[in-house]
Amino acid sequence: MSNLNPLEVGMMFWAVRDTFDEIKTMDVRCGQLAIPGDVSITPEFTAKWKADLQAANFTVVTVFCVYNGEDYADIPTVENTVGFIPPATRAERLRRTIELSDFAAALGVGSIACHIGFVPHDKTHPNYIAVLDMVRRVCDHAATHGQTFALETGQEPAETLLEFFKDVNRSNLKINFDPANLILYGSDEPLPALRLLAPHLASVHAKDGDWPPKDNKSLGNERKLGEGSVNIPAFIKTLKEVGYQGQIFIEREAFDPTERITDMRSEVPYLKALI
Ligand code: MG
Repeated sequence: MSNLNPLEVGMMFWAVRDTFDEIKTMDVRCGQLAIPGDVSITPEFTAKWKADLQAANFTVVTVFCVYNGEDYADIPTVENTVGFIPPATRAERLRRTIELSDFAAALGVGSIACHIGFVPHDKTHPNYIAVLDMVRRVCDHAATHGQTFALETGQEPAETLLEFFKDVNRSNLKINFDPANLILYGSDEPLPALRLLAPHLASVHAKDGDWPPKDNKSLGNERKLGEGSVNIPAFIKTLKEVGYQGQIFIEREAFDPTERITDMRSEVPYLKALI
């Protein structure tokens, strides 16, 4: 099975958008592979990834599901387009998530993850009920492959996510904790949230950012690791204190592709030195 170490640094990267040859040169042995919504999961695509990962002795810990039509422009747009919340795309996104669970299984990957979108606070809201049902279906399918299904944090406070967890009531439902998202969406303080959600962690992102303006619309700005408001050294310290045993995946979403790759590369030694 996995030869990875607790708190080992890995990279969150994308099929098609990133070049795996470049990722392999970043001095990491593991990663999370995001699959864009418009990529067809053909037998050839699966076979290529399987061969490339084996040849590089590189472990994918999580397959990340990204969906067609998602838009992270600002908070209202996220609410209307991201994850399992928009009713019009639910059936298609359920189908896609199950397809990616099967793809992950073919690669021997034990976890899938996605942003499910803003979980409503009101448990009687139709979106809450529908999303709860959809998450259970994904969990039950993932369980047939022995996989966990991890929800990315950020779009709601930790308390809301924890309540949702209790209601879903599936043991393979987990969290991919992203400390920067809680800040970028203005939803919660990352370090207390980490302590609250610690029993449910499957994986974590190392990402940084600043709080948004108080207009209930704009997102905060993502920053290079160590330059934003997360307090990355305290984040690593807290992961150790709560006994986290998984890997830490650098995620950089900067729009400029050159800046993104340059930052990802430079963040590896920064994070390794902290750990
Ligand atoms: Mg993230």
